[in-house]
Amino acid sequence: MRFDGKTVLVTGAGSGIGHEMARRFLEEGATVYAADLDPAGVPHGTVPLAVDVTDPDPVAAAVSRAVAETGALHVLCNNAGASSTTDPVSCTVEDWDRTFAVNCRGVFLGTKFALPHMLAQRYGVIVNTASVAGLVGLPDRAAYCASKGAVIAFTRQVAVQYAGTGVRCNSICPGTVDSPWVGRLLAAAGDPARARDQLVARQPMGRLGTPGEVAAAALYLASDDAAFVTGTELVLDGGLLAG
Ligand code: NAD
Repeated sequence: MRFDGKTVLVTGAGSGIGHEMARRFLEEGATVYAADLDPAGVPHGTVPLAVDVTDPDPVAAAVSRAVAETGALHVLCNNAGASSTTDPVSCTVEDWDRTFAVNCRGVFLGTKFALPHMLAQRYGVIVNTASVAGLVGLPDRAAYCASKGAVIAFTRQVAVQYAGTGVRCNSICPGTVDSPWVGRLLAAAGDPARARDQLVARQPMGRLGTPGEVAAAALYLASDDAAFVTGTELVLDGGLLAG
């Protein structure tokens, strides 16, 4: 019950990693506001919010509602993300901008609207979902790698700006996680079973990560167990980058 009495807002909570974050925060006592483009799938017991993280008004409204109803916002998980599977030549301007709008503008907006409340209460934790793609170059992920690198850089900036105020900001960098997202990427590969086998063969542990394993790391960073941790990125990749 590390989050008993805490108010938590998770974006992208309708599926995969964000769903598991929201479910676990709830399990550990938090009041959870679960934002998604399509909130139909958010965990039962959370407060579902229809939010497009690229749009300032609904993001601001989600933060305001959480604060109005509970009196505080303790934790923000900027988790919603968009994939892009193109190289720098084939990536269109629209693809580039859309990827950055969800992955970067979304993280910026959540942070921008949450911070005034967190600073006023002299307590707040922001956890941004980046990716190993923000740390290394991956083929056919031009906009995705660049946007996740920006999430990591912004996380450090926020951490430094507010260190000493009671506000912490960290990012998590998952490797390949068995969420509906990866299911869609594999389905697009033509022979999904073969593509999955190839993906798994590249993993040092011989398996993909689970959304629960990533959520557990986010909850650690969001908890007071991580009181001295800010401005860092936590890699959860089953040893992939170490190799
Ligand atoms: P997912 O597709 O299962 O879930 C993503 C959720 O985000 C969906 O419910 C979707 O509706 C929501 N979303 C998308 N755009 C949105 C927007 N504009 N506004 C609000 N909600 C929006 O994917 P996932 O695997 O759980 O991914 C979650 C995060 O983890 C993403 O930021 C992704 O980049 C990151 N990530 C995933 C993996 C992986 O292998 N699955 C690896 C590294 C990082």
